[in-house]
Amino acid sequence: MNPGTFDRRPVFAANWKMHKGPMATREYVRAFAGLYEPRSDRRVLFFPPSISVEAFREAAAAAARPDLELGTQDVHTATEGAHTGAISAPMAAEAGASWSLAGHSERRREFGDDDATVAAKTVRILEADLAPVVCVGETLEERDADNLRAVLERQVAAVLAEVAAARRVELTWAYEPVWAIGTGRTAAASDASEAHAIVREAIAATAGGDVAARAVILYGGSVKPRNIDELMAATGVDGVLVGGASLDPPDFAAICACGTSRQR
Ligand code: PEP
Repeated sequence: MNPGTFDRRPVFAANWKMHKGPMATREYVRAFAGLYEPRSDRRVLFFPPSISVEAFREAAAAAARPDLELGTQDVHTATEGAHTGAISAPMAAEAGASWSLAGHSERRREFGDDDATVAAKTVRILEADLAPVVCVGETLEERDADNLRAVLERQVAAVLAEVAAARRVELTWAYEPVWAIGTGRTAAASDASEAHAIVREAIAATAGGDVAARAVILYGGSVKPRNIDELMAATGVDGVLVGGASLDPPDFAAICACGTSRQR
């Protein structure tokens, strides 16, 4: 059973993208550990570049911080083979990851990950007993064309169709409107709530109301210390996936220490 299953605590997740090699990772963990005390009422996750996963694991162990959970940003659809530059889910697990993202919009846009690829990656992540965080979200064009619901339903259904019914409860989701990622534009709390409700309804349509009610759905898109309280107060938002602001230890510590009392 992967670590995402049946845990109702709010999640604060850092996606470092292509930032921080092993040395910068060690420095970050030391700094962050001094700024953020472990708390039992929330979970804190880091997705460094895969080359820095072991450095993160060692630095967190050296700082006696098992509460700082670790994942990879992507895995290949195969478990091994002739795929230069890629890593597989079993390799991520061996290096110390217990989570992995799948379907981040930058993977969809830059690397051509379509819905079928994202679904296959999610299955590989589960097979390696890692917890998947499946990213979904619409582009500005799709939103402007009134396709928000259709896009989210399609992305959610494509993944659930490939995941065995008994394992659907293990998925964590991240709603990330593409127009809000790295742009400084944040979805209004009401927009986030609307989209999270659509994602939950889409999960219910395929996996049933029980799985949908338990699903942890994160919001991502220009989350900052200044807007974290508003976003965490939005109905249906169970946590956040943070890019830019997670690169700075004081900013991410402030986000993780926000005053949420949320428990689902
Ligand atoms: C992300 O990379 O998932 C993200 C939400 O980035 P940012 O916080 O920089 O918008």
